[in-house]
Amino acid sequence: MTMLIEMARNSGIEVCGFLFGRREGDDFIVLEARQITNKLESQDAFEMEPLKMVRAIDEAEKRELEVVGIFHSHINCPPLPSERDLKGMRNWKVPWLIVTPKGDVKAWILGDGGIEEVELSIT
Ligand SMILES: [Zn+2]
Repeated sequence: MTMLIEMARNSGIEVCGFLFGRREGDDFIVLEARQITNKLESQDAFEMEPLKMVRAIDEAEKRELEVVGIFHSHINCPPLPSERDLKGMRNWKVPWLIVTPKGDVKAWILGDGGIEEVELSIT
């Protein structure tokens, strides 16, 4: 988590990437974070570079890890999903972790009943 906050702090644009790990019941266990280039190079939006996305997923799958989350940073606003994020969340129904350079962190998932906050626990 600290690493992601550092990443957000050291970047002038939104950073983004995957959280890889395993699912255990209702829990998403994060084992590693992999940054993917934000091809929009924007301060208030991100889009992961598609080829790098595919490569990262392939490599993770070879090690029997799956996508258990998407992370990105918000530079100028609180860690709440933007309209654009909500659209992306329809395609990736895993927790979306949002970090800010100030160190605020929240995770969200789009479930059947709409957007829900995901409880984070650090082990
Ligand atoms: Zn966002």
